Amino acid sequence: MSIDVIAGVDIGGTNISVGLITKTGELLGHNEFPTEPAQGFESAVNKIASHITELIQSDDYVLFGIGIGCTGRHNRADGSLGNVEAFLPGWQSKNITSTFRDKFNVPVTLENDADAAVIGEHTWGIGKGTSRFLLVTVGTGIGVGLSIDGQLYRGIEGAHPEIGHHIVDSSEGTVCWCGSQGCWEGLASSGAMTDWWINNCSDAQDVKSMNAHEICRAAKMGNKCAIEAVNRQGFYLGVGISNLMTLFAPDMIALGGGLMRSLDLFMDNIQKSIEINCTLVPHHNTKVLPARFGTEAVLVGAASTLVTSDIC
Ligand SMILES: [Zn+2]
Repeated sequence: MSIDVIAGVDIGGTNISVGLITKTGELLGHNEFPTEPAQGFESAVNKIASHITELIQSDDYVLFGIGIGCTGRHNRADGSLGNVEAFLPGWQSKNITSTFRDKFNVPVTLENDADAAVIGEHTWGIGKGTSRFLLVTVGTGIGVGLSIDGQLYRGIEGAHPEIGHHIVDSSEGTVCWCGSQGCWEGLASSGAMTDWWINNCSDAQDVKSMNAHEICRAAKMGNKCAIEAVNRQGFYLGVGISNLMTLFAPDMIALGGGLMRSLDLFMDNIQKSIEINCTLVPHHNTKVLPARFGTEAVLVGAASTLVTSDIC
């Protein structure tokens, strides 16, 4: 018996993931490959299309639609990519939705990656049934999406609010690519964590670079500088999450992304920060939990936009 599936596509500056998801949110399989943005938009489109075709042909699947989640702010009116020059130079204004619609003759949606992720976690994941739901995705950057009564919150002109770039400490860190110093992403993303490690620990440890996952592992094994890096990370994650708690008093804040696989290392600092900083809101009733879809949240979330009313 054939199964209707949605292709989810997660386009980041480093990697692209392509997967198949059922209409009830079951991830059937996915592939990941380097974005290689310098090779151009058409090259990436062809790779994505061949992965979709390969996955579809691996079983008796019928393609219902394609949901694309991509970093940046996009043009909802015509489904073209917005300002993505920081991650995908030369791709701006490319009409990715019509390109895939022409190739596969199915509906295609395009959503900001953080917004796609929150739609997915609310539709099929940990946020199902909540009225005020935030998803924080911590990876190379920090993305935050907000869902209110099941509807994605959009800013003026459909803008994705850049909560990951709100300022948490203007006297710390270097200037972020967003232009601000001390924004949340600049202090608490896994990229910020590895930068801090390189500047503060690598000489002493004779290790030039470690990724955030490796730093977390070193902390668990008792490496003092790694523990310091983790504590700093937990502190700044906690400040940002406390700010969200104070600003929105939500039902739930879910934490996803690669770094949150080590959430246990940061949770004490997060809880401490909430206790200290969120005295004016009923924070004890707000759940802070790991997201369901982890590193596949954008992929699954992009697919979920095909079954919600919030289609582009
Ligand atoms: Zn920033």
